[in-house]
Amino acid sequence: MDYQPEKRICQNCHNDFTIKPDDFTFYEKIKVPPPTFCPECRIIRRMIFRNCRSLFKRFCGLCGKSVVSMYSPDRTKTVYCMDCWNGDKRDPFLQGQDYDFSKNFFEQLKELRENSPILFAHHTGNVVRSEFTNYSADNKDCYLSYSVVLCENVLYSEIIDKSKNSQDCYAVQKVENCFYNIDCEGNYNSHYAVQSRNCIDSYFVYDCVNCQNCCLSFNLRNQKYVFKNKKLTKEEYQKELLNLVLHTHSGIKTTQEYFDNFLKNKTIHRFAQVYNSQNASGDFIGNSRDVFYSFDVQNSENIHYTTRSVLNAKDCYDNQGVGAGELIYESIATSFGSYKDYFTYICVGSKECEYSFMCKNCSDCFACFGLRNAQYCIFNKKYDKQEYFTLVNKIKKHMDDIPYVDNNGRIYKYGEFFPYEMSPFGYNETNAHDNFPLKKEEAIKKGYPWKEQDEKSYNITIESADLPDSILDANDDILTQVIKCPNDGNQVYQCTTAYRVMPEELNFLRQKKLPLPRYCPNCRHYQRLKYRNPPKLWHRKCMHEGCSNEFETSYAPDRPEIVYCESCYQKEVC
Ligand SMILES: [Zn+2]
Ligand SMILES: [Zn+2]
Ligand SMILES: [Zn+2]
Ligand SMILES: [Zn+2]
Repeated sequence: MDYQPEKRICQNCHNDFTIKPDDFTFYEKIKVPPPTFCPECRIIRRMIFRNCRSLFKRFCGLCGKSVVSMYSPDRTKTVYCMDCWNGDKRDPFLQGQDYDFSKNFFEQLKELRENSPILFAHHTGNVVRSEFTNYSADNKDCYLSYSVVLCENVLYSEIIDKSKNSQDCYAVQKVENCFYNIDCEGNYNSHYAVQSRNCIDSYFVYDCVNCQNCCLSFNLRNQKYVFKNKKLTKEEYQKELLNLVLHTHSGIKTTQEYFDNFLKNKTIHRFAQVYNSQNASGDFIGNSRDVFYSFDVQNSENIHYTTRSVLNAKDCYDNQGVGAGELIYESIATSFGSYKDYFTYICVGSKECEYSFMCKNCSDCFACFGLRNAQYCIFNKKYDKQEYFTLVNKIKKHMDDIPYVDNNGRIYKYGEFFPYEMSPFGYNETNAHDNFPLKKEEAIKKGYPWKEQDEKSYNITIESADLPDSILDANDDILTQVIKCPNDGNQVYQCTTAYRVMPEELNFLRQKKLPLPRYCPNCRHYQRLKYRNPPKLWHRKCMHEGCSNEFETSYAPDRPEIVYCESCYQKEVC
C-alpha cells in the first residue's frame, strides 16, 4: 500500500509529529496501530523504565542473601538473588492467573508485576567482586559503575566496555588507566578527554585521534607535544604542563574552565558522530544503514526512534537497547536473538512475546512475568496453541474496548507501551532524567512517578572545600573521612549529600597525580553528562561561511558551538 506522511497530535506533549510512509509500512507489517505519542515522548516513556544508577541494599526473597538491587522496596515487593532467580525453587507459574474481562488489562498487568519476584538487578552473570554495579556483565573489581561490560578495576563510570583501571568515565570503550574520558575509545593514560580516540598521555583533548602528549587541544590527528593547538618541543611542552599544576584541585578547575570555554567558542564540532553508515540520522552511529532518529547504533540496519545501545539489530522501531534482535518494537533491553517482541522489558532470546517482563527463551507469551523456556502462556498461565491465539485476540480487543486511562487523561489501548505508573522506578532514578532532567514538581505535573530520596543522615567529618588542594598532600586518613558534597542533596543530581574516597580510588589518583574529587559520585556523573548532547535532533545549516549544507544535529540552534557539515569538517580538521 502507498502511504502518505501524516501529522498527528501527541497525547503527552500535545505537539504535532509526523508519521512517515515507511513507518506505516512497518506498523502494518507487525500489525500494531500507529503511535499516539511523538518520538521524543516515546523515548522518554521507555527511558522511565531504565534505572542504572539508583541502588538499594535488600535481601533475596527466597534465600535471604543480601543483594544490591536496582528496585526500591516501595515500588517492588520482592527481589531474588541471581542463584534463586536461575534456580529450580523459583516457580513463576505460581503467579499464574485467569484473565479477568471485568478488569482493565494494564491494571491486571500492574498487579502481576508488583506481585512477582524479580531478579535484583540487571546482571547477566560472571560479575566478580562488583556488587555495586548494574546493567553489568563479565566484570571484575568494579564499583559504582553502570552499563559496564567486560571491565576490570573500573570505578564511578557508566556505559563502559572492555576497559581497565579507569575512573569517572562515560560512554567509552577499550580505555586503560584513564580518568574522566567521555565518548572516547582506545585511550591510554589520558585524562579529561572528550570524543577522542587512541590518545596516549594526554590531558584535556577534544576530537583528537592518535595523539600523544597533547594538552588543551582540539581537532588534532597524529600529533605529539601540542599545547593549546600549538606544536612545542618536548621540553617546552613539559614546562607548560607543569605550569597547569594538575595535581591540585585549583589547577584542574582553572584548566577545565579554559577547556570548556574553548569547546564552546573555538572548537569545530562535527554535526553528528556518524561513521561508515548510509542514510543515517541521529548521533553516534557506526557501520549501519537506514537509521532514523536513533542514537548509539552499531552494525545495524533499518533502525528507527531507538536509543542506546543498538548492536547487530535489524528492522527495529522504538527501543531502548537491542543486542542482536529483529523486528523488535517498543521494548527495553532486548537481547540474544530476540525476534518479533513488542512491548517487553528485559526479555532475552524470546520470540513473538508481547507485554512481558524478564522472560527468557520464551515464545508466544502474552503479558507474562519471569518465565523460562515457556510457550503459549498468558498472565503466567499455560494454554494450548489454539486457546492461546483465541484468547490473545480477545484480550487485544478488550484493551481497545476498555482502554486504560491514566491520571493525566492519556489513553492506552493495544499498541501502547506500558503506562508510566507501571514503571518500577521514579523518573529521577532513570535514564529519562539523565537525558531530559526535570524538577520534582515538573515530573509530577506530567504524571511521571518520582522517587523521594531516602532520609539519610551522615556524620560529616570534612567539607569538600577543606580537602587538601594537591593529591601530594592527601594522607591515608582521608579514607576514614565522610566528605560533604557541596550540592547538599540536590535532587536534580541525585546528590547523596556525602561521599567517601575508596582505597583503590586513592591509589589511582596518587598514581596519576590527580586531586581528590570535590563532589559525590552522582554529582560528578551529571557534570560529565554536560559534555553529551541529548537524544534529540534539530534541522540546521552548516556554520561555515559560504556553505549552504543542511543536516540533522543534536546541537540545539541556540547553542554557542561551531557546528560544521561533514565536508567542511573534513576540510578543516583532517
Ligand atoms: Zn510528545
Ligand atoms: Zn537467593
Ligand atoms: Zn553530590
Ligand atoms: Zn559545510
